Amino acid sequence: MTELEKKGFSHNFIQSIVLYPEKMDEGRILKQIDFRFPVYYEGMKAMKLGCPTKVKSRRYTVCDRKNKEKTMKVILQNLTKKFPGRSKNGPKEIAAVDDFSFEIPDGKLIGLLGPSGCGKSTTLNLLCGLQKPTSGKIFFGEEDVTDLPAEKRGVGVVFQNYALYPHLTVKQNILFPLENLKGAQKLSKAEMMEKANEAARLVQIDDLMERKPSELSGGQQQRVAIARALVKRPRVLLLDEPLSNLDARLRLQTREEIRRIQRETKITTIFVTHDQEEAMSISDEIVVMKQGVIQQTGRPQEVYDAPVNLFVAKFLGTPPINVFQGRIKGQKLYIGEEVIMETKDLPDQEVFVGVRPEGFVLSKDGSFSCELKGVEVMGRDISVVCANRASVNPTIRAIISAENKVDASRALVRFTLKPGKVFVFHKETQERICFLKD
Ligand code: ADP
Ligand code: MG
Repeated sequence: MTELEKKGFSHNFIQSIVLYPEKMDEGRILKQIDFRFPVYYEGMKAMKLGCPTKVKSRRYTVCDRKNKEKTMKVILQNLTKKFPGRSKNGPKEIAAVDDFSFEIPDGKLIGLLGPSGCGKSTTLNLLCGLQKPTSGKIFFGEEDVTDLPAEKRGVGVVFQNYALYPHLTVKQNILFPLENLKGAQKLSKAEMMEKANEAARLVQIDDLMERKPSELSGGQQQRVAIARALVKRPRVLLLDEPLSNLDARLRLQTREEIRRIQRETKITTIFVTHDQEEAMSISDEIVVMKQGVIQQTGRPQEVYDAPVNLFVAKFLGTPPINVFQGRIKGQKLYIGEEVIMETKDLPDQEVFVGVRPEGFVLSKDGSFSCELKGVEVMGRDISVVCANRASVNPTIRAIISAENKVDASRALVRFTLKPGKVFVFHKETQERICFLKD
């Protein structure tokens, strides 16, 4: 046990400290030493315990990744990737990623979210260097990495299907990226083992090191894949639908694990998923994509509460938002023939109206009436399933607290709608229209 561990600091805590040379070349880190010795730090001032003389030397300061300059942010600048079209009658080219510009803040976890085929994997492949962009640039910090080969980018990648080597043990799988290091980066056997053990401990598989992948559960295999991606201490960690092959419970557990590991290592991470709930729960910020184009970025709650268009509104939230044919006329919002609420001064027009399931309030004299189809008890909440002629979908779902009593034999239910849960979208552009009076 080290001095630090005696004081109650966990191994993982220690790992999240990185040493940087004090002298930087115009803010660029000249050399980064991986930290293998316990260091206790307080802000930028470090009190060292049991450090080797090299580290004690004046040349180095100890800093938390939090405090260092924003060197690890990732910038995607007008990134475009086109593929030749596959069908004869279709377009000549498909833009899998179309003029994608986004800055990923240092040390944050970004959820890249969108339906299958919207260009998520292509974006990751461009970031890790497996594919070259048709145009645009990628920066890691100040460094333009657009033309840098994949192996020089310092990126760790985890795929959906784990991609472990089946004939190698867990230990050998994790060691693999280190064994291929060349020149000055080459490590001794002992150094490699130490790093492999460190990564294994971080994902909590250190007791499985001698097993083969076939002797592990899906969740354990995915942890090995994460350890293998982390072992070289990547500048950026990319996860492409890493939880899709896991069952529901493991998914939840592994997603919390990924969040913990990211918080501890503070590695700038991009997490790709088509599952909105997964992205919302894990990300500092989400990027919603559709057909290669960014639709909206922001903190999950912000995007949920203020979607820019109908696509984003429909993509986020379970059960999904209810969509109706509606109209603005004489400063009133209509769904079908019923007046829902007053609007600010807007031209009369046909619109789509979106109502979040939690936006319905049962009310005897509510202005919005629906045909009652059924009531589903979900424990804490009840889901009132109903229909309305103006609804775009055959059924509407309203989620209300289980404290409400709904008489399922009634033919009709009446609601009032919570203004913050109602969105109005332009009929053609499908962009959101702010309609509430200030
Ligand atoms: P996602 O990961 O979001 O499901 P992808 O990035 O894999 O989407 O694909 C985006 C689009 O680019 C799709 O229309 C896909 O068919 C196309 N695409 C991806 N890779 C290639 C390729 N190598 N050649 C041609 N088309 C591709
Ligand atoms: Mg994909």
